[in-house]
Amino acid sequence: MSEDKTSAPVIAIDGPSGSGKSTVSKTLATALDAGYLDTGAMYRAATHAVLQAEVDPDDADEVLKTVTTATIEIATSPEQPSVTVDGDEADEAIRSDETTANVSAVAAHGDVRKHLIKQQQELIKAAAGGIVVEGRDIAEVVAPDADLKIYLTANPDERARRRAAETGNDADSTKDSIDKRDQADSKTTRPLEAPDDSHVIDSTDLPIVEVVAKILALLNNRNIDG
Ligand code: C5P
Repeated sequence: MSEDKTSAPVIAIDGPSGSGKSTVSKTLATALDAGYLDTGAMYRAATHAVLQAEVDPDDADEVLKTVTTATIEIATSPEQPSVTVDGDEADEAIRSDETTANVSAVAAHGDVRKHLIKQQQELIKAAAGGIVVEGRDIAEVVAPDADLKIYLTANPDERARRRAAETGNDADSTKDSIDKRDQADSKTTRPLEAPDDSHVIDSTDLPIVEVVAKILALLNNRNIDG
C-alpha cells in the first residue's frame, strides 16, 4: 500500500477473539510510533447504536439505517483508542456482554460491512505514519495491499482463558460464547482460517513481547528484501 515501506507501513493483524490481537496490535503500533485501528470496536460501536435504538439486530434495513445515521468515531492512537457513538464515550458499553452477544448479527449485514469498511479504508489512508489494523477480514478485504499480513491464533482453551480473565466471566461459559461467536462470524468472515499470504503466529505459549518481536523481525526482513 505505501510506497516507502520503512516509514509508513500498513500492518494487517487478523485472528479470532482471545488470540491476543488487541494487545499485540497496540504494543506493535506503539513500538513503531504508528496508528492503531481496532475494526472490531467499530462493529461493536455499531451494535451499541443498534441496541440503544432498540432495533432488532437481525433487521437488515433498520440496522443499516441506524448505523449509517449514527456518528461513530474512533481514535487511532494505540495509547487511547477510544470510541464515541453520537458524541458519547462508549468504551465500556461496546465491551458489555449484551453488545458482545449481538455483534455477529450486526456484522453479518453486507451493507453495514460496506459502510464500516469504507470508513476503515479512509482511516488507513489518513494514517501518515503507518498503521496497525486488527480484525478478521483485514488482509483479504479491508487492506489487501497491506505491507505485512499476520494471522494470530491460539488454542481454544487458551483463548477462553484470556477472554475470561478480561471479562471476569467463568472459563467454561466464555469458551461456549467464543465458540458461538466464531461459528456466527464464519458466515461473514473467516476468523478461523489464515489467508494464504499471511504469516501465521500461534500465541498459545508465546508471551506478547515475543509475538511483537517476531512481527518486527518480519517487518525488518521485508524492508531488507523488498
Ligand atoms: O475483535 P472483536 O472480538 O472485538 O470483534 C467483535 C466482532 O466484530 C466480531 O465477533 C465480528 O462479529 C465483528 N468483526 C468483523 N470484522 C472485523 C472485526 C470484527 O465482522 N474486521
